[in-house]
Amino acid sequence: MISNKMVGLVQNSSIIRAMFEEGKRLADIYGAENVYDFSLGNPSVEPPKEIREEILNIINMEDANLVHGYMSNSGYQDVRTTIADSLNKRFQTSFTGENIIMTVGAAGGLNVILKTLLNPGDEVMVFSPFFGEYRNYVDNFDGKLVVVPPDINDFQPDLAEFETRVTEKTKAVIVNTPNNPTGVVYSETTIKGLADVLNRKQKEFGISIYLISDEPYRELVYDSIEVPYLTKYYNNTIVGYSFSKSLSLPGERIGYLVIPNEVDDYTNVVGAANVANRILGFVNAPSLMQRVVARCLDAEVDIASYNRNRELLYYSLREYGYTCIKPEGAFYLFVKALEEDDKAFAAAAKKHNILIVPGSSFGCPGYCRIAYCVAYETIKRSLPGFEKLAKEYSTADRS
Ligand code: PLP
Repeated sequence: MISNKMVGLVQNSSIIRAMFEEGKRLADIYGAENVYDFSLGNPSVEPPKEIREEILNIINMEDANLVHGYMSNSGYQDVRTTIADSLNKRFQTSFTGENIIMTVGAAGGLNVILKTLLNPGDEVMVFSPFFGEYRNYVDNFDGKLVVVPPDINDFQPDLAEFETRVTEKTKAVIVNTPNNPTGVVYSETTIKGLADVLNRKQKEFGISIYLISDEPYRELVYDSIEVPYLTKYYNNTIVGYSFSKSLSLPGERIGYLVIPNEVDDYTNVVGAANVANRILGFVNAPSLMQRVVARCLDAEVDIASYNRNRELLYYSLREYGYTCIKPEGAFYLFVKALEEDDKAFAAAAKKHNILIVPGSSFGCPGYCRIAYCVAYETIKRSLPGFEKLAKEYSTADRS
């Protein structure tokens, strides 16, 4: 009885979620401490203590109808102004509350902006490897996903390949930096190059191409690396931000879109995004959480814990002979599979109770993603398994 479209979507439903369920099954058999589930990007560090304090302060001190009521579809005006001011201070931008729309996480924000922009058949470009849900989000509005193949040397976008694929049907490009699944931060050189191509192509075809910057991992970076703020490099940039990872609040579903005055057709884009937020059924972002995050914009999670995990995993894997790039941000490591078939490799890892996600889920076969947002002890205990797995391939004795 379900729609034909949903039949296909259910069949292809997220392999990551399926692995998460598999992890629970294995934990029941072998004991949770003997299963190394690196499948899901669920933050392992607690939200900052300010979150709890501010929830309590707001509940105790603010007007209950204000805290829990409906508001404008774009969110509370004071919250949006506070966010704009904070961005201006950090990135020397000049946003006002009018440029901010509060959303139901990054997923909600991306769906709002794609509904706002896409006509059926419009093309949305992504760089492999990419967050697999983009495929569904673009399909929600009958857009066509165009995938730019990866540059496996450094996993920065391949701009030459990109340029050849832009057409007069290109409506948007989604970038995600720090990147899920590689942990790579796109360099300023890459961003400038991307902006050059986009400006050239806009002129050549006489169209507007929107750059959508999906940034749930902006705050999760190591070694003080800078993540360029994209609105400063390309006028038609729209930012989708989320507090899911930066404040460890994925279940609370809170984020925002930044739609700068400079984007083409600004007034209509903002107006339509507001309506999209309502008619997609979000109505508005969760009210209590809007008020909480506005009070916690400078709060931080314990990035040092992720960094410890990163160091241990990266150097251990390298020692065992794996090929991977040291992640600069987020909490993912993208490792080259030890055979061509990444799904077979993930299945081989599962024999050691190690759950990792094949790169095909991110449009990049031949690799696997390890989400290291887990306890340090889990990584430590998983290492003998990773070592044995590498040895199996090096001796080609896989019996
Ligand atoms: N974009 C990327 C790249 C992600 O990795 C995720 C979640 O893992 C999302 C968007 C969705 O995030 P949210 O929980 O804010 O909807």
